[in-house]
Amino acid sequence: MKQLLVLGAGTAGTMAVNKLRPRLPADEWAITIVDSKPEHVYQPGFLFIPFGTYRPEEIVKPKAQLITAGVDLVMGEVDIVKPDESVVVLADGRELAYDQLIIATGTHPRRDQTEGLDGESYGKTVHDFYTLEGATRLGEVLDSWEGGRLVLNIVEMPIKCRVAPLEFMFLADSFFAERGMRDKVELVYVTPLDGAFTKPVAAKYLGDMLEQRDIALETDFMTMEVDGERSMLVSYDDREVPFDLLVTVPVNMGADFVERSGLGDELNHVEVDKHTFLSDHHDNIFALGDASNIPASKAGSVAHFAVDVFVDNFLQHIHGHPMTHQFDGHANCFIESGHGKGLLIDFNYDVEPLPGKFPLPGIGPFSLLKETEANHWGKLMFKWTYWNVLLPGRDLPIAAQMSMAGKDLRAGNAASDPLVGASS
Ligand SMILES: Cc1cc2nc3c(=O)[nH]c(=O)nc-3n(C[C@H](O)[C@H](O)[C@H](O)COP(=O)(O)OP(=O)(O)OC[C@H]3O[C@@H](n4cnc5c(N)ncnc54)[C@H](O)[C@@H]3O)c2cc1C
Repeated sequence: MKQLLVLGAGTAGTMAVNKLRPRLPADEWAITIVDSKPEHVYQPGFLFIPFGTYRPEEIVKPKAQLITAGVDLVMGEVDIVKPDESVVVLADGRELAYDQLIIATGTHPRRDQTEGLDGESYGKTVHDFYTLEGATRLGEVLDSWEGGRLVLNIVEMPIKCRVAPLEFMFLADSFFAERGMRDKVELVYVTPLDGAFTKPVAAKYLGDMLEQRDIALETDFMTMEVDGERSMLVSYDDREVPFDLLVTVPVNMGADFVERSGLGDELNHVEVDKHTFLSDHHDNIFALGDASNIPASKAGSVAHFAVDVFVDNFLQHIHGHPMTHQFDGHANCFIESGHGKGLLIDFNYDVEPLPGKFPLPGIGPFSLLKETEANHWGKLMFKWTYWNVLLPGRDLPIAAQMSMAGKDLRAGNAASDPLVGASS
């Protein structure tokens, strides 16, 4: 019996085992998936908790319910991978041997990486929404906040869901306006990027949206320290940004065992081929989802398209054939813009987000880079789609490879090069 071992039963790991189990003969392949936490959390829901749209219990389900029959779910913390022995050791000493290994342990916010961020102000004047606990506490604070200077700070890129911090600001603007207190709140968006977003066309659209909402944009800010006593963000080039309430998006890093196992880059993201997800160093190790260092967005939609491509490749690989399917970095994200509207962006490694239409049989088309109510409903529908279509491994009517159908290339021309690499 051969062993497929999957580390991490989050978005990517769950989709991978649920798609692979029916395609790997049960009398030849055993599949085991390991995770340290019993609950699966729908992370896109973190965005809505601070504003009271979702309650925490609405976005959590037991992992055991989400893993298909015929896959063993092992609860345990991965301590180290020993690639030379093809063995994974758990923190409690258990050893799991594998023939093929998939690392899908994601990337996670690390407050400990920035001076002052883990200090006494955390939970008082400093908050986050990239964890369930953080988003829940922030919701309690916002509910009774009387106004002041709210600063959102992205410490460093890459982070998972690059658009979530922008969405947070758009929703904050809408939330305070609906409470009749927008004039009592100053909103400031502090980013290490040189604009609102990474790529020129989307950066222009999203930057204009910040301006229209009177949200100040502080760019090129490389955060060195959060001085809790003075309620001040301090950058490496000695700039200072004061806050009354700081919403931080800390450095995101892969699991520590990735470093201990010699498999990762400086942020513990597993080094793999960006088209096939095969480790740069080992022929029987893959990394899927946020855990890998591929230069695509760290998003559930990317994990979904990636798993689609991966499954066909994996079946070729284990039969000793070359992998013929190439992942193109496809990402597809709804962006909440507040007041019941949203945008949609669709892009890949080579094509940046462009305006136009996104065709979707039966439901669409959705407008690209344009605020519409349909895009807001698309975002809210994504929760149902996540639990009922994506995680069980069912097919979505969206191809894994990005399509140029409906995209307006002239917008790209105006910004310079229509096909600016969208990957970083
Ligand atoms: C605020 C926010 C908003 C988002 N919005 C969107 C959105 O609108 N659209 C979108 O597509 N994506 C969005 N995302 C991103 C999306 O949630 C992630 O990209 C996706 O969940 C990544 O899946 P993954 O399987 O790689 O990692 P995860 O789903 O995080 O799973 C990793 C798993 O590994 C386990 N694990 C980690 N370390 C260990 C260890 N040492 N031992 C054992 N188990 C371990 C964890 O417990 C976890 O279950 C958002 C994320 C956030 C934070």
